[in-house]
Amino acid sequence: MDEEAAPKRGKNGPKFHCLPHSTQGSARMGTRKKVHTFVRVKPTDDFAHEMIKYGDDNKSIDIHLKKDTRRGVVNNQQTDWSFKLDGVLHNASQDLVYETVAKDVVAQALDGYNGTIMCYGQTGAGKTYTMTGTTENYKHRGILPRALQQGETNRIIASHTMNKNSSRSHCIFTIYVEAHSRTLSDEKYITSKINLVDLAGSERLGKSGSEGRVLKEATYINKSLSFLEQAIIALGDQKREHIPFRQCKLTHALKDSLGGNCNMVLLTNIYGEAAQLEETLSSLRFASRMKLVTTEPAINEKYDAERMVKNLEKELALLKQELAIHDSLANRTLVNYDPMDEIQIAEINSQVRRYLEGTLDEIDIINLRQIQEVFNQFRVVLSQQEQEVESALRRKYTLIDKNDFAAISAVQKAGLVDVDGHLVGEPDGQGFGLGVTPFSAKPGKKSKSKKTFKEQLSSSARKEGASSPVSGKELDVSTSKTQLTPSSKEGDVKDMTIRERETSSLEPLPSDSPKEELRPPRPSTPPPKPVAFEDFKNERGSEINRIFKENKSILNERRKRASETTQRINAIKREMDVTKEALNFQKSLREKQGEYENKGLMIIDEEEFLLILKLKDLKKQYRTEYQDLRDLRAEIQYCQHLVDQCRHRLLTEFDIWYNESFFIPEDLQVALKPGGSIRPGMVPVSRIMSLGEDAQDKFSQLQQVVLPEGPDSVAFYNAKVKTEQKHNYLKTMMGLHQAHRK
Ligand code: ADP
Ligand code: MG
Repeated sequence: MDEEAAPKRGKNGPKFHCLPHSTQGSARMGTRKKVHTFVRVKPTDDFAHEMIKYGDDNKSIDIHLKKDTRRGVVNNQQTDWSFKLDGVLHNASQDLVYETVAKDVVAQALDGYNGTIMCYGQTGAGKTYTMTGTTENYKHRGILPRALQQGETNRIIASHTMNKNSSRSHCIFTIYVEAHSRTLSDEKYITSKINLVDLAGSERLGKSGSEGRVLKEATYINKSLSFLEQAIIALGDQKREHIPFRQCKLTHALKDSLGGNCNMVLLTNIYGEAAQLEETLSSLRFASRMKLVTTEPAINEKYDAERMVKNLEKELALLKQELAIHDSLANRTLVNYDPMDEIQIAEINSQVRRYLEGTLDEIDIINLRQIQEVFNQFRVVLSQQEQEVESALRRKYTLIDKNDFAAISAVQKAGLVDVDGHLVGEPDGQGFGLGVTPFSAKPGKKSKSKKTFKEQLSSSARKEGASSPVSGKELDVSTSKTQLTPSSKEGDVKDMTIRERETSSLEPLPSDSPKEELRPPRPSTPPPKPVAFEDFKNERGSEINRIFKENKSILNERRKRASETTQRINAIKREMDVTKEALNFQKSLREKQGEYENKGLMIIDEEEFLLILKLKDLKKQYRTEYQDLRDLRAEIQYCQHLVDQCRHRLLTEFDIWYNESFFIPEDLQVALKPGGSIRPGMVPVSRIMSLGEDAQDKFSQLQQVVLPEGPDSVAFYNAKVKTEQKHNYLKTMMGLHQAHRK
């Protein structure tokens, strides 16, 4: 390549036909395109006219081998080959070669399409001459300097063209193109690259007689060329999905330049002499394989982020102006569309709070940003309030996770939860204010339920009995219609009521209880507890439920009064503080002005005197109110206790009722019917005796507290209770006998 070479015209060679290359340059996105293949024949005086013939359109080469020309030709049988190409360049000037092979590829690269031009062929056939040309002669410059020139970057030509490359190595020049629009507003720009590949010699081993190091090198080069071939064959096969690009450096480097979205051109350099025909054949075969490869050229379009931001800023400014015009046309006072600052957000927060409190009727709509912030502040306020409520609850109560059985059992041990797992004062998830559904109440755990029944009753009875005289007070709310004994004393009436409720529980219910009679036939499957509980509250539980509700309303009323009193106390306290401050002020004034003393007595002015009186009065009020509050608190505590007791009883009785109604065998139901021997609510049968004891125990305790002033009556009631117990027992047994006889 070092030697100066001027295009030579073969003596007898066919005339060069100007190549129309209509297929080139019409690349559009999405259209598949074949690799363009050209053949450049190195000028020679010894052109093999007999063997190399070009087609009339200069788009094919026919090779004819005379059998006797050489021994051992590749294929003994075949002597003729025809290769279809995109053009044959015979005795073509560098100018024409560039025009034909490279010009459109470079032009398209400037429009954003990647391009690859490869020179392939035997060493000395003119690859480097074609690609780089000669540095000494401007006319003989090759594709690379011309491409740079076309891209208006000929400044760097010199340094590149100085690079000489060995015929045993591949040489890839890559020109990176990045084209921005001259109009600043266009944020789109294109990038592309042009790969100019001067491949190593393609000649076969053995022919050049390479040995040793050179042989090794040649093997290596040929290996990479054969990998290139494999990649190209794969690219040419439409069915192949995997292209072996990773096999060697060459194919790896050309990965995105072979096929793909490139415009691709292969220029095969051949000798025109007969002596090189074998290699020429091989080079032409490579070219024809390359022709099968198709590519899909596409523009590499990118967006200039900086320009885009600038454009958007411009657009924003314009829209703001537009908005301002609209506002002024609509007579709207100057509306600010900027992001809100902290003060504005705080103002919105306070608006939202006032709105939630009810002190603000509406929040005016100003603009989108403000509406969004209002919603945002709603969320802020909501989450704050949730936290406040939770922490307030935590200050007041110990909250237990309902699924945390360990915690529940611990609390149970501590006595905060009743035996059935009802968390005192806690509504349960079933929505009937009962607490956790006891496991013992579930079907299939019937026996356990019965076992705990007595415990429940006796414990609650004892608690009630032992509580205080007010137990009676509490229960007298539930005064029954049927009083057994007329009595003149108020206390007596109470006691009778209690006795009737607590100890004559084995008596059948009066048959005038309409709801009891209307009870529908027992369903085959028990109703869900929440539903059953509603029924229970209307039926047997109506009385206790009423008391429960009454107690609750009393409790609430006391609580309300306590809170009002607290408020008054706080108001008084505030006034006291104000008065104290005013007094101090007066005192300091007096001290400043000089004090009067009259016979050891302090003289003060009227204002100060009135303040002292006022403070004294306020202190008195404070003390009174405070005493009231203490009383109220005691009452509340007590009422709370009653409410808890009622709830417990409601629950216990409900459980009994539920079990009786849905789990007791049919034949025993008879005894439960009105007129039957067992008062509903007091089964299980086997427990009747002990039940009686419990009730009696309870009653006697109650009696002794309620009637401390009438000790004589205690003996009477004890006797009465025993008699009634016996009576009830007999009745029950009779009822059972009857039931069994049936
Ligand atoms: P390759 O790179 O294929 O091994 P070169 O480009 O180095 O071959 O060419 C070998 C010699 O032939 C160089 O001296 C070069 O100037 C000359 N040569 C090749 N092709 C032509 C041509 N078309 N016209 C004139 N001289 C040529
Ligand atoms: Mg070379």
